[in-house]
Amino acid sequence: MDKFKEKIVIISGGSRGIGRAICLAFAKEKANIVFTYNKSADEALKLAKELTGLGVEVLSLQADVRDYNQCRQVIENTLKKFNRIDILINNAGIVRDKSLMMMLQEDWKDVIETNLGGVFNMTRAAITTLLKQKNGCIINMSSVSGVAGIARQTNYSASKAGIIGFSRSLAKEVAAYNIRVNVVCPGFINTDMVNSLTDNIKKGILEAIPTKRLGEPEEVANVCLFLASEQANYITGETIKIDGGLTL
Ligand code: NAP
Repeated sequence: MDKFKEKIVIISGGSRGIGRAICLAFAKEKANIVFTYNKSADEALKLAKELTGLGVEVLSLQADVRDYNQCRQVIENTLKKFNRIDILINNAGIVRDKSLMMMLQEDWKDVIETNLGGVFNMTRAAITTLLKQKNGCIINMSSVSGVAGIARQTNYSASKAGIIGFSRSLAKEVAAYNIRVNVVCPGFINTDMVNSLTDNIKKGILEAIPTKRLGEPEEVANVCLFLASEQANYITGETIKIDGGLTL
């Protein structure tokens, strides 16, 4: 149970849902955790206590991933405390689902700037350190929506497909520096993001999933543990779907 002992993991959007499960999963394996949140200060405080209770060091930082300077601060504070970054998990994301006909420019901009801009901002802020270390692992949270497309998600699909392109290019760019870059594509996972959908939409989703259930945040966290582990040392530029067969 100490696979990641003394490793330093940064997780964006750790306060809720999948990010929270990833923080807990790595802390259970004894990694020290840096996590960010944007609006959910109470949840962040609760999580920080829970993580500390697992016997690891924790840094909880408020930072809006849309803002490059705030992301730079996250990296600077991490280096001040831990002097190193082993794993960066870009998880923060939002949805603003609407048909294209009803979509406002703000809906487009908010989603692209948070989901895709956030991945650029955090990774750009961290990359010099990873290159100097000649070691590192980046995991980016995409979605099946970025692979298969989902109606009423043109903004979200575009952001998540963009993350896949970004990750493949970066994987080629930094492979010689012993830095791996991979992508995780969840299907429908049991978090606030999915639970805020109407009952009718949720019913339709469940019917479409061959395993007839939502995924659990911990099931996404498990794949992140694998991708960040030595067992995945030869895997880079890869995209792994965790969707109960939804996109088959
Ligand atoms: P969630 O429960 O809504 O949590 C979203 C997380 O992102 C929160 O911690 C939130 O922080 C953070 N966040 C949002 N905007 C931010 C910003 N501007 N700056 C910093 N942090 C921000 O969502 P989730 O379901 O766990 O989703 C996590 C990731 O998985 C997202 O990238 C999402 O697109 C992806 N995903 C989810 C599903 C699913 O079915 N749930 C499926 C495919 C992909 P605050 O609450 O502190 O603001």
